[in-house]
Amino acid sequence: MCGIVGYVGSNLAYPVIIDGLKKLEYRGYDSAGVALHMGNSIEVYKKEGKVAALEESVHGKNVQATIGIGHTRWATHGEPSDRNAHPHYSNSRNIAMIHNGIIENYAQLKSELLQKGYTFKSDTDSEVLVNFIEDIKINNECSLEEAVRIALKRVVGAYVILLLDKDLPDTIIAARKGSPLVIGVGENAHYLGSDASPMLAYTKEVVYINDYELAIVRPDELILKNLGNERITPFVQKLDMELAAIEKGGFDHFMLKEIFEQPQTIFDSLRGRMDAEQQSITLSGVDKIAERLLRANRIIIVACGTSWHAGLLAEYVIEELCRINVEVEYASEFRYRNPIITDQDVIIAISQSGETADTLVALENAKKQGATIFGLVNVVGSSIARMSDAGAYTHAGPEIGVASTKAFTAQLTVLYLIALKIAQLKGTIEATLFNRLLADLANVPAYVKEILDDQHAVIQAIARKYSDARDFLYLGRGYNFPIALEGALKLKEVSYIHAEGYPAAEMKHGPIALVDEQLPVVFVATKDSYHEKIISNIQEIKARKGKVIAVVSHGDNVATGLADDVMVVPHVHEIIAPVLSVIPLQLLSYYIGVYRGLDVDKPRNLAKSVTVE
Ligand code: GLU
Repeated sequence: MCGIVGYVGSNLAYPVIIDGLKKLEYRGYDSAGVALHMGNSIEVYKKEGKVAALEESVHGKNVQATIGIGHTRWATHGEPSDRNAHPHYSNSRNIAMIHNGIIENYAQLKSELLQKGYTFKSDTDSEVLVNFIEDIKINNECSLEEAVRIALKRVVGAYVILLLDKDLPDTIIAARKGSPLVIGVGENAHYLGSDASPMLAYTKEVVYINDYELAIVRPDELILKNLGNERITPFVQKLDMELAAIEKGGFDHFMLKEIFEQPQTIFDSLRGRMDAEQQSITLSGVDKIAERLLRANRIIIVACGTSWHAGLLAEYVIEELCRINVEVEYASEFRYRNPIITDQDVIIAISQSGETADTLVALENAKKQGATIFGLVNVVGSSIARMSDAGAYTHAGPEIGVASTKAFTAQLTVLYLIALKIAQLKGTIEATLFNRLLADLANVPAYVKEILDDQHAVIQAIARKYSDARDFLYLGRGYNFPIALEGALKLKEVSYIHAEGYPAAEMKHGPIALVDEQLPVVFVATKDSYHEKIISNIQEIKARKGKVIAVVSHGDNVATGLADDVMVVPHVHEIIAPVLSVIPLQLLSYYIGVYRGLDVDKPRNLAKSVTVE
């Protein structure tokens, strides 16, 4: 996920691009760059940090160009740095390109290019693509447009690319598959962007580009083609959105936008890592420390907050599938309590930002004692990523809402892959179960979309009904217990209602005393091996006149009949169910917060990346 901007017209491109990039910083902000066509050459300026840092570094340079492209990066391949920032030149410097997305088969393409003598200045997948395109252009003696078309037929992955060619002083070539691209139509000018915010000040006429379309963009001309070189008539639409709404993709809050992004982000977490047909999982981080994982005495998962809940679920899953002892630790406790760690231990650190202060110090201590560190973080090049021996990125894209949603489901997704991969390596999983879980995982993006489509209005109504409650109890068993904890945490964060998560059976040892007709009790009660037990727990609450809201599997008439309100999710294997059952709970918290008139994106007292102890 990153922000891209392009301009070709009769005015200066640079100010349009810089302004546009600032509006797109919510999409990524670890480095930024521009490429300007100066007539005889293409000049590239790029800088680690925010767009303001780029602007400062360009200050005083010649930027008198009327055509250019710009990028604000959210690193996926290669740490944030000047050299990994976009745009990337091709080897001859005749082409400059920006890219949003992931080229999954970049390693294969890169090795082919290395054999031909190409060199690379960055660690990105994107620089491979620009050189792949250049190589095709040279070998086929064809136009850039033709070379892009040929190249994209071999590219696996997601992209929006914008390219400048030294020989084309008035043309931007653009193409998309799987990442967003909008082209604004102005007076003798065209504007390109990841969304419409960069062009809103100049035009309200826009064309949304579709997958597998290629655009040839000049000041007075916009030609659209498919990859088969057939012309497509651009469909020009009039925008009637305000700027803030566009940045939030039309949603009222980033939190809601991020909840709705989950079909895509979960897909991105799986992308290139799982092949349900081949029954295989590719995770280079696990391969790198495979030998240590296989002889590990135990795995210690270290995390804070929502990430800790992901860790708790991972404990259940890894112990079940891999038969390795797992402990889950709060980083803040772990770092101060002198734990016994040996070089036989593998630590999995989970953190969205990769900068969580307590987790970092806990890892440093463990590392000194010889443990192997595996980092599971969202932010590429973050401190935890850098200090880990191996790791995997969650690829959820930047999360702006303070209460974590899409980063959590991305963590769960990758943790499932890690557990399955280790289990396969260790031989502790039957092929039928492995295949079943892989098949369910492959369907998760579609199932999440189904929940969001079908249950949105239902959950809004439930949220309205209970938005005045003073306390909530969340109960779940087994794999759904961590989801009960996460549901309660989410509610606390965005609604300021006191909520507690508990193992459903434990409620009899205390919390049941709270139950009266005022108390909503949320059961995470999808169908699993302990389903009758949780049904009994629902009965126990009902007998005490508590109000029961239940997350139930599709077709579960028993739980549906007992509960006052239900939120329905598709039925999957019980190990995979939590990544679905959390979705209604995110929406429930969000709407209760909204109905209480709160700023759900920035709850009081909280911060996104907790870099203090
Ligand atoms: N995969 C590219 C990189 O890591 C592009 C990432 C993005 O979309 O910002 O540089």
